Amino acid sequence: MTLNMAHTITVIPGDGIGPEVTDATLAVLAAAGADLEYDVQLAGVAALEELRDPLPQRTLDSVAAHRVLLKGPLTTPSGTGFRSINVELRKTFDLYANVRPVRTIVPGGRYEDIDLVLIRENTEGLYVGVEHYIGMDGDPRAAAESVMIITRFGAERISRYAFEYARRHGRKKVTLAHKANILKYTQGLFLDVAHEVAKDFPEIEWEDRIIDATAMQLVLDPYQFDVLVMENMFGDILSDLMAGLVGGLGFAPAGNIGTDAAMFEAVHGSAPDIAGQGVANPTGLLLSACMLLDHIDQQETATRIRTALDTVVHEGTARTRDMGGEAGTVEFTDALIAALA
Ligand code: NAD
Repeated sequence: MTLNMAHTITVIPGDGIGPEVTDATLAVLAAAGADLEYDVQLAGVAALEELRDPLPQRTLDSVAAHRVLLKGPLTTPSGTGFRSINVELRKTFDLYANVRPVRTIVPGGRYEDIDLVLIRENTEGLYVGVEHYIGMDGDPRAAAESVMIITRFGAERISRYAFEYARRHGRKKVTLAHKANILKYTQGLFLDVAHEVAKDFPEIEWEDRIIDATAMQLVLDPYQFDVLVMENMFGDILSDLMAGLVGGLGFAPAGNIGTDAAMFEAVHGSAPDIAGQGVANPTGLLLSACMLLDHIDQQETATRIRTALDTVVHEGTARTRDMGGEAGTVEFTDALIAALA
């Protein structure tokens, strides 16, 4: 039995503001008494510079061994250079469910008391990368074609994950957002499968809506939603829209969950414009670490951290710049640690 043994997780501090927000997060986890040990590994630009490989085998081996990863943001060169390491990690470990809770933290925004969860299919759709140019009349790039792939298997497991998530977290309703009116085969299959899965969860209210109308309704009246589930690209876009409902990406955590491994990361990127200045808000990664604690059955510690965060933000004495305050990363972290004491 491994009861009472600290849980070892892989930590990738990441690029840009990654190391700053990771240090802050680990300091809060320690102060909250999280029962964790860390295997710190490199990926992204940091790994390329130090080990000449943006995704070293030893990093992959560490994730394979520990099955739980806390990851700082990684810089992805646009257009050229190496492929997104985030996408590589999701593919390698088949992290099929991207879970993005969105909750109001800083009061006084556009809406109060938002509490929504978006569950995005993470492995299929247009993001499978099946695309190519079509040459015509001497122009090798006269057209381009991308293939959207939806499988019964993929649609079923993400729909089931969404309903099981709703059941586990005492949520009342699941909304499938889709475009089956136009994409009758791919989106139609997703919709049909979700309808079948819904029958196994009679206690959970269920509806399906067209994606564009869902986007508008989220802005007009987000309170009508609870858990939302959708395919990859729709989820990519709407999860950022939903982060906007609560003040932006700085507060948004994400879990990428597979059958054998899980990766937790902030939704924001490496923020090169503020890297090294000590002003980054660590909340996105910290809330991701709370999801990680929930995942490994350390919910009490996660709740203590979320409560401390609410306390510090509501008191308003130590808010980072993006929250309208003047505190640096370290001051904000110290305030969280003091609130945990
Ligand atoms: P970004 O999220 O890094 O930054 C967007 C804006 O938000 C910037 O003004 C930045 O200063 C601000 N910001 C982001 N996080 C913040 C925080 N914690 N505290 C305060 N302000 C914060 O997005 P970008 O500039 O488009 O991307 C930069 C790099 O990050 C790119 O290479 C991109 O590929 C990468 N990226 C990585 C991930 C990931 O690792 N999961 C996600 C998104 C982008």
